[in-house]
Amino acid sequence: MSTREPPELRLKPGKERSLERRHPWIYASAVARVAGTPAAGETVCVRAADGRFLAWAGFSPQSLIRARVWSFEQSDRVDADWLAARLQRALARRERLRLRTDAMRLVFGESDGLPGLVVDRYRDLLVVQFLSAAVEAWRGPIVDALVRLTGCDDVYERSDAQFRRREALPPATGALHGSAPRAPVDIVEDGVRYRVDALAGHKTGFYLDQRDNRLRVAREAARLATERDRVRVLNCFAYTGGFAIAALAAGASHALSIDSSADALALAARNATLNGIAASAAETWASDVFDALRSLRDAGRRFELIVLDPPKFAPAAAHVQRAARAYKEINLKALGLLEPGGLLFTFSCSGAIGIELFQKIVAGAVIDSGADMLLLARLGAGEDHPMSMAHPEGEYLKGLLLERA
Ligand code: SAH
Repeated sequence: MSTREPPELRLKPGKERSLERRHPWIYASAVARVAGTPAAGETVCVRAADGRFLAWAGFSPQSLIRARVWSFEQSDRVDADWLAARLQRALARRERLRLRTDAMRLVFGESDGLPGLVVDRYRDLLVVQFLSAAVEAWRGPIVDALVRLTGCDDVYERSDAQFRRREALPPATGALHGSAPRAPVDIVEDGVRYRVDALAGHKTGFYLDQRDNRLRVAREAARLATERDRVRVLNCFAYTGGFAIAALAAGASHALSIDSSADALALAARNATLNGIAASAAETWASDVFDALRSLRDAGRRFELIVLDPPKFAPAAAHVQRAARAYKEINLKALGLLEPGGLLFTFSCSGAIGIELFQKIVAGAVIDSGADMLLLARLGAGEDHPMSMAHPEGEYLKGLLLERA
């Protein structure tokens, strides 16, 4: 970028308040004027209506989020070295967690002060997403720094097309450094192996955010296995079977994984084999979960441990009502299949539905089911998905662990 004075973005009166609370987004509606003609991703100097310095931000000419804050320090200069230091800080944070896995989120966008950047590590493969014009403009220096700092040679891009569209960026996938993965990567999480398809899988290939909850499922399955002669698991919205495999490896006797995607379930079956689990113990059903829950009830099937991990039913605030009905329906149906003493792990990854509301929805299902249920724990994303207190939008995954009395 050039050495001329950085372009300036002047806010409307009063619109500085969210930035003073260190919220990193500047909406188009808050902008009074832009001096100069900053290019997409160019760093702009954000000033309050009275001219006070507020932040350095990456400009996005066509997005509703017109700029994303890099730094609130006037003395900072956003350049390749500065970005490398931010990346180093994110990596050091993950190092300190001492996770018992070779797969984790290394960079989580706004939470790590790198708005719109996601970096996941699967063994020696890095999978990145550039989801804002701000980070898009720096993709070269970011990839160089990642290779240098992690020692990983292969960097593969899986930028989510939907997010990029909002930033007027074209879809993007492909190798950015080294070579594209020629085969799926087998990761090991707490001794359990999972095959990850970084080329075509969801997100960057795997639900890393559910790691702690997989461990919790494993722990509870192991405990139940000491108390009963069988532990039957129902894993709804199973994807590649993460929760089922974790439970089976921990001692569950049988798991039924249900997903509408036959491809995902093929990988779930493969994951069972990878862990020496008999195919007969790891059943899969390619079906709509709503229909499957009805069939299971009609067939009189019962379970000691049930996981509900649906996709985002409420992609935006406008869908909350309809989503609430869907969450209630699956929870109600699942409760009807749960054995006394059994556990329900129920999740929502809708950012528009907070934990309070989610708990209320599930409580409604519990009341209608007539079951006597205890709330044992509230669950969330793992520590490699931290949330900035200034940016509550970063919190999306929430869950409840309920026990049937
Ligand atoms: N629990 C998984 C992640 C679930 S993601 C894990 O821990 O890895 C949501 C999954 O729900 C996707 O795999 C998607 O294919 C599936 N899905 C979405 N709608 C569905 C429906 N109505 N019935 C069955 N599966 C559905």
